[in-house]
Amino acid sequence: FNVLGIETSCDDTGVAIVNSSRQIIYESIQLQHDIHEQNGGIVPSLAMKSHQIHLPRVINETLIGGKLDIVKDIDVIAVTRGPGLPGCLGIGLSAAKTLAAVLGKPLIGVHHMEAHALTARLTHTELIPFPYLTILISGGHTLILVTNGINRHIQLGTTIDDSIGEAFDKTARLLKIPWLKGRGGGPGAALEQFAIGGKSDKFQIPIPMRKDQQRRKEMNFSFSGLKTCVQQLIQKQNLNLEDEQVKKDLAASFQQIVIFHLIDKLELAFEWCKTKEIDLNALVVSGGVASNKSIRASLEKLANERYNIPLISPPSHLCTDNGVMIAWTGVERFREGLIDEYNIDHIPKWPIEDLSK
Ligand code: ATP
Ligand code: FE
Repeated sequence: FNVLGIETSCDDTGVAIVNSSRQIIYESIQLQHDIHEQNGGIVPSLAMKSHQIHLPRVINETLIGGKLDIVKDIDVIAVTRGPGLPGCLGIGLSAAKTLAAVLGKPLIGVHHMEAHALTARLTHTELIPFPYLTILISGGHTLILVTNGINRHIQLGTTIDDSIGEAFDKTARLLKIPWLKGRGGGPGAALEQFAIGGKSDKFQIPIPMRKDQQRRKEMNFSFSGLKTCVQQLIQKQNLNLEDEQVKKDLAASFQQIVIFHLIDKLELAFEWCKTKEIDLNALVVSGGVASNKSIRASLEKLANERYNIPLISPPSHLCTDNGVMIAWTGVERFREGLIDEYNIDHIPKWPIEDLSK
């Protein structure tokens, strides 16, 4: 069967058709970087307007590109139901509900983070068996999950303040690094490029949550202090941001501490799984920040060398928001008979563990 997936939870209008044989038939996306860069971040009203303008065309392009007829060839319509920006979710949801109801097709409301967690089962050479450990590092989330199956996720950790993506974005802004253009672009990717030429041990930035003994044992993250720390370094040492090398060293030092923080918490998660006798098949990393090559390399080393499991990650363009992940989650859910009513509403705040309730 063929599933049409629609994603409008944040700033990308993504539509795709994926079939039950794990093939991406066609995919189309409309990015909004140009709209949001000048504001230094996502403006919900502008994101909403852009979805409104582009979604009908993106759906149409996907059907034409895939050479499929919506009436004859599409079996299921899947759409992001939450979490995300309320107005933005509403646009995708209205379109999907209308299409599904009018055409009499099954509708599936998808949890955006479950979709990020399941994408690797589509893109990896083989279908990764459950359970696996998932780390979702994106613009809105920083989650460590045990992915036991569809609807079955245990959340081991989350951020207590900013997400990892926000930390990258705010630090990039602080360092006045221009955004990278195009798919896989944005402030975080630009910071990564900058860090390549920098010395990661040039500046001392403390690893978050290490000092407090209680916090140290938690599987949660804290990223808000990092930007402040970079800011203070610039002020105290009177650093010149006109000097490219200074900026590169700051970017590299920041990125290194982020990696140490991720590893600290993942180690705790691996140990937790051991004590619960959960036999993990892989470490899956996804979300926009997962396209960061230094982060991937460090996580791969941790998974392979310390825990003897592979690190699996979707290709970069499917780590950020896209229609493919929604269509694929539609495939997975449809197989389990998890179909929704035509009158479902969006759920802007939606803990992933609520899926199992
Ligand atoms: P969520 O899925 O939590 O709702 P989102 O979908 O808006 O959030 P994504 O599109 O998955 O977020 O990721 C966007 C974030 O990833 C941004 O903060 C962006 O700067 C960051 N990012 C993208 N590429 C990189 C990179 N190479 N290195 C670091 N950060 C990156
Ligand atoms: Fe996302």
